[in-house]
Amino acid sequence: MHGLMQQRPLLLSGLIDHAAAYHGDREIVSHMVDGSIHRSDWRSVQQRAKRLANALARLGVEPGDRVATLAWNTHRHLELYFGVSGMQAVLHTVNPRLFPEQIAYIVNHAEDGYVFFDISFAATLAELAPQLGRVKGFVAMCERAQMPDVPLPHLLCYEDLLAQASADCEWPVFDENTASSLCYTSGTTGNPKGVLYSHRSTVLHSFLACAADGLAVSARDSVLLVVPLFHVNAWGVPYAGAMCGAKLVLPGPHLSGENIYRLLRDERCNFSLGVPTVWLGLFDYIERHRDSLDLSQIVLKRLVVGGSAAPRAMIQKFEELFGAYVIHAWGMSETSPLATIGTPLDKHRDFSLQQRYDMQARQGRAIYGVEIEIFGEDGQPLPHDGKAFGDLKARGPWVASGYYRADADAVDDQGWFPTGDVATLDADGFVQITDRSKDVIKSGGEWISSIDLENAAMGHPEVQEAAVIGVAHSRWQERPLLLIVAKIGARPTRESILNFMSGKVAKWWMPDDVVFVDTLPHTATGKLQKLILREQFRAHPLPTDEVAIGRGA
Ligand code: AMP
Repeated sequence: MHGLMQQRPLLLSGLIDHAAAYHGDREIVSHMVDGSIHRSDWRSVQQRAKRLANALARLGVEPGDRVATLAWNTHRHLELYFGVSGMQAVLHTVNPRLFPEQIAYIVNHAEDGYVFFDISFAATLAELAPQLGRVKGFVAMCERAQMPDVPLPHLLCYEDLLAQASADCEWPVFDENTASSLCYTSGTTGNPKGVLYSHRSTVLHSFLACAADGLAVSARDSVLLVVPLFHVNAWGVPYAGAMCGAKLVLPGPHLSGENIYRLLRDERCNFSLGVPTVWLGLFDYIERHRDSLDLSQIVLKRLVVGGSAAPRAMIQKFEELFGAYVIHAWGMSETSPLATIGTPLDKHRDFSLQQRYDMQARQGRAIYGVEIEIFGEDGQPLPHDGKAFGDLKARGPWVASGYYRADADAVDDQGWFPTGDVATLDADGFVQITDRSKDVIKSGGEWISSIDLENAAMGHPEVQEAAVIGVAHSRWQERPLLLIVAKIGARPTRESILNFMSGKVAKWWMPDDVVFVDTLPHTATGKLQKLILREQFRAHPLPTDEVAIGRGA
């Protein structure tokens, strides 16, 4: 027997219509590419998204067509989020930090019909244009007076397109399983792969972002969206923000510590989200200007750190600087991305701060909608004892089942998606990511977690950033090598770092050597590029390896 409830499809147009109707004057603030601050609101985003939908239809964009963006976080990019998907086309957010040849590959693979771009990317696109044969037009996201003077074929102006289109538009109603947006994984090896989200998966994911034990995004939040709109749909917050009418503050390309600080202060942001590296920039700015800053003007109370492990020292620092709670979350493009979220349980109420930081340093628990499990080499589930580690798999209605234009399913016959991460699970379901499976250090038949070691090193007051990789060892197969970027003006020694770490990690995990470097390589989404480091330090002679030392002598 069927229930007698209405069948209304879960469509993204419903989110923006709700935001316009119930939170119409809630602000959307953008720090534009030209440095100006632009103020808009949810009503205006909806009206302009409707104009955009009409403009796209006039350009010949049809349901299912892919429309790409190469753009920073601004109100125009947000309008594209709702205008493109609302008219049943697919929004393909391209990461502009990728190498030009990767951009060309994914625009061609997605067969994007139009590319909307911020003018800072005009020159890159002009160079790439001859390789982008399928693109029918390039739309500069600016006013007529700001149009870039570059040799781009079929160059159009965003504000002209909107001015010429009507805001009178009934959103089409269609199957909620229709594709809404497309993101390519950064792909450290091989070609990037397209993850294709649906209206239904995105709306369900938004409910989670708004849930109290999710990210708790609400109408009372002023959200500084540091995570880019081109990184897994900005972790779903643009949609969740529309669902609940949060104020969104969009920093454009201005992601320096100083700019982040100013937006937090001026827009009274109580909530923010971003990868660890951007927060290091904020800390650095605060440290250098401590005497002239009045930290009581910052009302930040919660922030989500994900994309890479949030070091314990960072969690502590946010508490000490602002009294802000770090929600440590784990996920990936293929999980939309929210999969596990570090909100506390009732039993953590009486925890000391130190105990709480330990809890927060893990990546949280699965929330309803995502199932996770860890598996051993024999394919059997491992105990949830916080010790056994194995391959982490996930399944659920906002987890990918396959990749765009790829033949094979991405899941096994039980519906599990292999995440490529190695993790432990404890009795409460808290997950701790030990590594990407290819980054695990295999020493004497046991595994060493590079993330744990990095975490411990990051607590040292003179360390800006740390990376740990496995280096070949004639006796132990691999041993950890610690690479350190010191804070500006600091000169930590090998001994002080190793002394600091001793007692914080198992003795046999301690790095065999420490090397100081000026910078560490990052991917386009801010993750450490360990592949490059492993190649760079492949022949590094560890002082504990007599054979290697002998070779080097
Ligand atoms: P992406 O698809 O580019 O967002 O990358 C997803 C990958 O980032 C995951 O598979 C993890 O390896 C890593 N990652 C994401 N969040 C965390 C976290 N909180 N701690 C450790 N690694 C993370």
